[in-house]
Amino acid sequence: MIHKKGQQVNEAACDLAREVANEGDALVAGGVSQTPSYLSCKSEDEVKGIFKKQIDVFVQKNVDFLIAEYFEHVEEAEWAVQVLKTSGKPVAASLCIGPEGDLNGVSPGDCAVKLVKAGAQIVGVNCHFDPMTCVKTVKLMKEGVEHAGLKAHFMVQPLAYHTPDCSCQGFIDLPEFPFALEPRILTRWDMHKYAREAYKVGIRYIGGCCGFEPYHIRAVSEELAPERGFLPAASEKHGLWGSALEMHTKPWVRARSRRDYWEQLKPASGRPTCPSMSTADCWGVTKGHADLIQHKEATTKDELKQLFHKAQAKN
Ligand SMILES: [Zn+2]
Repeated sequence: MIHKKGQQVNEAACDLAREVANEGDALVAGGVSQTPSYLSCKSEDEVKGIFKKQIDVFVQKNVDFLIAEYFEHVEEAEWAVQVLKTSGKPVAASLCIGPEGDLNGVSPGDCAVKLVKAGAQIVGVNCHFDPMTCVKTVKLMKEGVEHAGLKAHFMVQPLAYHTPDCSCQGFIDLPEFPFALEPRILTRWDMHKYAREAYKVGIRYIGGCCGFEPYHIRAVSEELAPERGFLPAASEKHGLWGSALEMHTKPWVRARSRRDYWEQLKPASGRPTCPSMSTADCWGVTKGHADLIQHKEATTKDELKQLFHKAQAKN
């Protein structure tokens, strides 16, 4: 029964995505992500079976391409790509790793080579790290692919949060995850820098993951308007680089209707007693660890108590 429900959710999601994509001449992707089964050390066949169930729906709904995304272990991502490519659709593969590589320490370059060899046409990273860290990681992937004499397209879908202080686990390791991340949000001007940098290193699928809002994506599109040949529709209303502030009632705000003002601004957080960086939790658990074994039931009060104790002992 659980499988049936999952299938219905994916069917409805495909229909919704297609409806919206048609409004803007966009493509629709079907996506699979890392599984609790892999973390619990289930067999390759069992894990692949889970991906297979999902792509059957995507193929039947005729999505334009498939994405294996948000994988912390490249081995599981390779399994996903191998299943996705049986569909005959283009396959993108995206890991949630930083410059240090996957959770087994496989470097970004080696990860990318493995994914391309498994059959992915587009490779890159998503989630877990801030935009500039993700661009740096994809640059390493690109160098790895080129060094191996292979060819691929590159993608990046970072967080909209600054994460200079996280470990190889990414933002989920930060004490603010997931309900107090707002002070780390990038401004739209940070997004201009990110989009330019991503383009410069040769990434052509440039997007966003957790924390991204429509105005962030608009900033990416505005930065790359010269390359794309057009501006996003809403730019007319908002103006580029704050130009719509020419209309502001306060003269000192009108004085901010220029690019260099926003480019040079160092925005304050307004939190006088807060640190600028945090200390990551670093529990260091990964595939196969007892705490990651999949439960059918909710975590019990007793199990939670043990985790609270463990967290206190760490701090
Ligand atoms: Zn995300």
